[in-house]
Amino acid sequence: MFGRAPKKSDSTRYYEILGVSKSASQDDLKKAYKKAAIKNHPDKGGDPEKFKELAQAYEVLSDPEKREIYDTYGEDALKEGMGGGGGGGHDPFDIFSSFFGGGGSSRGGRRQRRGEDVVHPLKVSLEDLYLGTSKKLSLSRNVLCSKCSGKGSKSGASMKCAGCQGTGMKVSIRHLGPSMIQQMQHPCNECKGTGETINDKDRCPQCKGDKVVQEKKVLEVHVEKGMQNSQKITFPGEADEAPDTVTGDIVFVLQQKEHPKFKRKSEDLFVEHTLSLTEALCGFQFVLTHLDGRQLLIKSNPGEVVKPDSFKAINDEGMPIYQRPFMKGKLYIHFTVEFPETLTLDQVKGLEAVLPAKPSSQLTDMELDECEETTLHDVNMEEETRRKQQQQQQEAYDEDDDMPGGAQRVQCAQQ
Ligand SMILES: [Zn+2]
Ligand SMILES: [Zn+2]
Repeated sequence: MFGRAPKKSDSTRYYEILGVSKSASQDDLKKAYKKAAIKNHPDKGGDPEKFKELAQAYEVLSDPEKREIYDTYGEDALKEGMGGGGGGGHDPFDIFSSFFGGGGSSRGGRRQRRGEDVVHPLKVSLEDLYLGTSKKLSLSRNVLCSKCSGKGSKSGASMKCAGCQGTGMKVSIRHLGPSMIQQMQHPCNECKGTGETINDKDRCPQCKGDKVVQEKKVLEVHVEKGMQNSQKITFPGEADEAPDTVTGDIVFVLQQKEHPKFKRKSEDLFVEHTLSLTEALCGFQFVLTHLDGRQLLIKSNPGEVVKPDSFKAINDEGMPIYQRPFMKGKLYIHFTVEFPETLTLDQVKGLEAVLPAKPSSQLTDMELDECEETTLHDVNMEEETRRKQQQQQQEAYDEDDDMPGGAQRVQCAQQ
């Protein structure tokens, strides 16, 4: 039993895995694999190793050539035969889905044309996205005629169009000159390019042979809390129907309208707030009405100073998170501080008395004498940079103008 002939035991494992006898027919194998693969599918909590083994065993035994090699020489022979290294073997999920048509139309049969998707923009407010809402929309679409089931005729029959022999296209020849002709292809006018005609008497009275009729349909679009700008809401198979066509989808694309107060960045909200200098230094409180109408009291901590162009955040007052609406982002407040334009001398004295002392840079008269007086002017930096840029552009343009090279070369070429 031991020694040089382990082949026999080597060529039974696959049968044991599938739980069939060595004489099992292809049908038995198929049934056994199907049953075991469903039971052991990892999606259903099965053991992935076992699932893989099943696929391997089935892959070999279902192929008569491989089965013979396996029966005669065992597992190792197959591994060697697979060209070494690469390990052979297919994705166990591929083998599984080839049985159950895993989500594709790959299971033989002719492929149907897919109709086009219809895309509609859907404007929503930030409040809609915060609270969630549903909107009813009335659309008209083509549906297969119910009277003739999309055949276009009472009898269900159609004839090959005589005008184009059923090709839907016609070729016309134009003589352009004594020895020149032009061939042109265009859709057949008799059948509108469909390649078939319906006898006048046989025409369906409801759709007049068009196969489809218009239908009004009301769709209720559920805008869920936390949905994003440009997020899609799809109604599968609700677009225009046509014969021999898989109906496309109606797709709504959310377009969030600008909000006068709140800006949104994914799950966070931003608001602007301006404080007076006194508020920034001595404290503030104000009321902010949220997107759902709640009044939030926002106030500084005692003794806190708010610096210009700084942010503060309130947790869990941002946007709800899509599909986890009990979780929310942050609400950021951006502070601008308005400084007084000027102060009276008394105000200056008063402030100096309470504010931290100036840096000690007392200059002696001697030192002052050695300095030059200067004057500070007000500037608008944005304005200045813009003017500088314009100036540079103008100069570059002027240089171009009196560069001799370009213009002369053109003249030469023209002579
Ligand atoms: Zn035709
Ligand atoms: Zn009809």
